[in-house]
Amino acid sequence: MPLVHLSDMIGHASRHNYAVGAFGVNNLHFLEGIMQAAENRRAPVVLNLIAPHFENQTFDILMPAVTSAAQCATVPVAINFDHGTDIASAERAIRAGCNGVMVDTSALPFSDNLWQTRDIVAMAHACGVTVEGELGYVPGIEGENARNHPGELAYTSAAEAAGFVERTQVDCLAVSIGTVHGRMKGSPKLDFARLAKIREATSVPLVIHGGTGLTDDQFRRLIANGIAKINDYTALSDAANRCIRENVSADPKGGHSGLLAGVRDVVRNEVERCIHLWGCSGRAAEVLAQCRPWHGAEHVVLFNVPATISENEISSILREGKKSLQAIPGVRNISTSRSIQPDGEYRYCLSISLASKSAIEVFQDHPAQQRFENSDLWPRVTEHLTLDLEES
Ligand SMILES: [Zn+2]
Repeated sequence: MPLVHLSDMIGHASRHNYAVGAFGVNNLHFLEGIMQAAENRRAPVVLNLIAPHFENQTFDILMPAVTSAAQCATVPVAINFDHGTDIASAERAIRAGCNGVMVDTSALPFSDNLWQTRDIVAMAHACGVTVEGELGYVPGIEGENARNHPGELAYTSAAEAAGFVERTQVDCLAVSIGTVHGRMKGSPKLDFARLAKIREATSVPLVIHGGTGLTDDQFRRLIANGIAKINDYTALSDAANRCIRENVSADPKGGHSGLLAGVRDVVRNEVERCIHLWGCSGRAAEVLAQCRPWHGAEHVVLFNVPATISENEISSILREGKKSLQAIPGVRNISTSRSIQPDGEYRYCLSISLASKSAIEVFQDHPAQQRFENSDLWPRVTEHLTLDLEES
């Protein structure tokens, strides 16, 4: 299981003066291309799910594939939810399997950004999940022309960054020093002096969003000045778009698969280029050895009820219980089952799948869980057995 704690992965990059890539995943072609590149280069990698890219149920449908790709990998992987704007979106991401969440409330005034980020940090940390905050404003949306989203760039100030990190307890901080999301008009001018000051004033690794269009030298200087994670989507999307356009001109009447042929390969090539440039190649083994593995957990209750309680009654209690417990932060899934052997030691099983070992504590202490157990379950149960398990 090569999922590792995102904060450990970024911390390793920060201590060893390289940057880990967080590559935007919005479909299976990108997912495969990114994973192949990380495997080819023996590099740690962050699979980045960018909130504004997902409508309807796409995120929930894609996440099982992302989790499965991470679990099948031989290189360390973390799964990050990018640009969540409130605690509900962060909770949903953790429920779906992300072990890092980025909070983007940077368009708010400083104090509102600080309070909202702090609330999300408290919830996410209780579940063991890494949090990235953002201070200053990087305009635009990944993958689109920055001029379509002309919000004013607001630079991060070193003094504010120090207070923000200390008071929110974020694990890493996205800074605004001259990049924009998506494609930039003209060449970006980065404020390296500002970055050096932010690094000096803060104790956490720093992150850059909007790296598309930067020169190799600019990337090297960013890393030399404390950038330990770089978010990249637009360059991958541009490579994929070029590939599709070439497919169309080669065969204007080609079918859907023909249009997408080669997309995975060009994404892989671009990711490999970045991984190499950012100093990430060949780091997989040391990251796996030095970073905590990420394991999901399970809270299982086996129980019996007296014969006076009907199957219908117990089903309805468990159904209602599932509804209220499902909303507890860190709960990923709840299943109920019944023993196949009618005279087995325990007749019923309630199994709660959680984001991590620490999420078990959040679950146990939550008022909804205590209400369910104390008012609905225990008064009806004759005997029970509870088990807390960690994935191995
Ligand atoms: Zn971003």
